[in-house]
Amino acid sequence: MAKTTFISKRAPYYQDIPDEKWDNWRWQLSHRLNSVEDFNNILKLTDSEIKALSATDLFRVDITPYFASLIDPNDPDDPIRKQVIPTASEIQPFTGMMEDSLAEDRHSPVPGLVHRYPDRVLMLVTTQCASYCRYCTRSRIVGDPTEQFSRSDFEAQLEYLRKTPQVRDVLLSGGDPLTLAPKLLEQLLRSLREIPHIEIIRIGSRVPVFMPQRVTDELCDMLQQFHPLWLNIHVNHPNEISKELEIACDKLTRAGIPLGNQSVLLAGVNDCVNIQRQLVHDLVRIRVRPYYLYQCDLVEGAGHFRTPVAKGIEIMEGLRGHTSGYAVPTFVVDAPGGGGKIPVMPNYMLSASDHKVVLRNYEAYVTAYEEPTSYEPHDPSTCEFCSNKRFEAGQSGVLGLLEGESMFIKPEGFDELHNRGGGKHRLRADSNKWKPLGIGSPKKEEE
Ligand SMILES: *Cc1c(COP(=O)(O)O)cnc(C)c1O
Repeated sequence: MAKTTFISKRAPYYQDIPDEKWDNWRWQLSHRLNSVEDFNNILKLTDSEIKALSATDLFRVDITPYFASLIDPNDPDDPIRKQVIPTASEIQPFTGMMEDSLAEDRHSPVPGLVHRYPDRVLMLVTTQCASYCRYCTRSRIVGDPTEQFSRSDFEAQLEYLRKTPQVRDVLLSGGDPLTLAPKLLEQLLRSLREIPHIEIIRIGSRVPVFMPQRVTDELCDMLQQFHPLWLNIHVNHPNEISKELEIACDKLTRAGIPLGNQSVLLAGVNDCVNIQRQLVHDLVRIRVRPYYLYQCDLVEGAGHFRTPVAKGIEIMEGLRGHTSGYAVPTFVVDAPGGGGKIPVMPNYMLSASDHKVVLRNYEAYVTAYEEPTSYEPHDPSTCEFCSNKRFEAGQSGVLGLLEGESMFIKPEGFDELHNRGGGKHRLRADSNKWKPLGIGSPKKEEE
């Protein structure tokens, strides 16, 4: 049965905390749970959780009292609990797991800046989060207080952006940008807005989910100076959608910030089409558009969260057509080794010939679409959009194998490798048919 209203929860242990404290994000941050004693106040830990929490070199644990209160204390398999409380599975070694599975460090022209796609960059602005996800893709740097970015790192990132006119979209991530000191975040946004070729700024943040109290009117007022600004949150399960999250998202959308959601497909948490359907329905109700559903990355310590790729395809099959198009995310596999996000979906085209394509719909109804007998295509030679393009999509390219597992297509016209760091982009096969590949930057336009 569909929920009618979203609810607030507070673990009994916190019942006597005055609302002014509970609703204050600074209180939430400074009262995060991280030890066996802390957790014992709100739930009964399993032996596996106690073992993990007692391990010394574990990826950082910290959970806001608000988020911990969403856990059902009587359910050791609670989907929120699994996302944030470590178990012994995390300390088992896994083969095939990688420290930097997306090869982000190799695509960094300056520390913290990942330039993998032609027109947009990922800017890692902090290593801190409001709470820590056990399957974190960036656990190699995130959570470590000694791995902070400095002002000179920010300056180097900004300098790269000023000199790189093909970048029109900057995605702030980390860590969580909304945990930055408010003044510092504002300065960063202002510096980015001063760069004329940067059209949109995006923030990837789980703060509204872990600590919706942080989404104050003051924060929204600050953010809305920097439009067009977009924000993606990260919700994996319908139980995370509370009254507080609903209010935080309402404030953000009223500040003119379009909201999206990125979730990760996680075994035992949301690897079920019914859970996913409820999740996307609840998200669109709070005006958050499902954006990506990620296949779990090959992260050390997160092997127990992985599902077969087929599970994601099955979920997409169960959403598309069955529910509002607005509620359907794109399922993506982020290519190990640094190939970027690759969309994966059920096959709807059964065959294609010169004159007809055979398709099936979500109910397995098969249909044939007759192709036109004549087609007068658009003329690029007289088109102003074609003549002043910054980036040409859909080029043909050369297929090759990268060291590691990924295949890359190097589009024609992409000569320069972004990889300035390791020189690790080498082909496995020594065939002269295959040129050295990588994701390159578009050729500089001749002025
Ligand atoms: C995900 C990502 C982006 C943004 O990709 P979109 O598909 O545009 O959302 C940009 N850079 C890097 C390195 C990324 O991982």
